Amino acid sequence: MAAFAPTSLSKDPLSSGTPTIFGSRVKSGEIQQTQLRLWTSFRSNTGVKLKASIEPPALTWELKGDKQESIVEMESGCDLFDEMKIRFLSFKKHKYMENSEHFQALSKGQSPKVMVIACADSRVCPSNILGFQPGEAFMVRNVANMVPTYESGPSETNAALEFAVNSLEVENILIIGHSRCGGIRALMSMKDEVDSSSFIRSWVIVGKNAKQITKSAASNLSFDQQCTNCEKESINCSLLSLLTYPWIEERVKKGVLSLHGGYYDLVDCTFEKWTLDYKESIMDRKKRVIVRNSSIWC
Ligand SMILES: [Zn+2]
Repeated sequence: MAAFAPTSLSKDPLSSGTPTIFGSRVKSGEIQQTQLRLWTSFRSNTGVKLKASIEPPALTWELKGDKQESIVEMESGCDLFDEMKIRFLSFKKHKYMENSEHFQALSKGQSPKVMVIACADSRVCPSNILGFQPGEAFMVRNVANMVPTYESGPSETNAALEFAVNSLEVENILIIGHSRCGGIRALMSMKDEVDSSSFIRSWVIVGKNAKQITKSAASNLSFDQQCTNCEKESINCSLLSLLTYPWIEERVKKGVLSLHGGYYDLVDCTFEKWTLDYKESIMDRKKRVIVRNSSIWC
């Protein structure tokens, strides 16, 4: 998956051509080895021996040494989907069939208590890190977990919001940001004007207020630190954007809907969670998010 770099989809503008994956500057071999370890580990756990039956596609990176054979096997796609099949059948046997009443009830409808808005980054998997089970969380994932304002017009994110809030009547919306976010890095790196030649740049400009706040409040910090600051600021800006939707604000005002921010630090594996204090926030003259119930899970 390409990084959200502002000048190229495959190059980090700050690292003289080192590939990035959603903002993480890593060497190609490290990426491959990490994937390999995961798949190898899974294979050894299942006790199933799999063989590639089709010719592998061209590899993205130059590979060396004895790792090549295994990586080629993994890259073939055959192994990948064989593994997925095993995982699915395991889910069916151990979760679906053993809880068939629950899943039959779910087949008739859903009533999740929370909507989650998270980044598309493959390392930020809300169901995995927060343990959501089928039916528990209505979810939309986009680049850098951003929420456009009501005035911005239709997008897949506000279509999901409309359904979750007005039809499912979720009681909570949780926006999950994360460290090393490539989308935020792209936002922080780009020039202010929108460049229509990049869908990424056209999208992440949604977070321009967060960038502005960060640039004025944290200009003395390093670029990496500014990105961290913006990752959190952007969550708060998105919380304020949620309030621009009249049907969201109405429910928040009534006390039947709560808005939360979450920040997953994937380096230290900590999760920071806070709740928007609606009354205090709308009274704030500087239109900042005032939070309550802030805590760090570590
Ligand atoms: Zn991200």
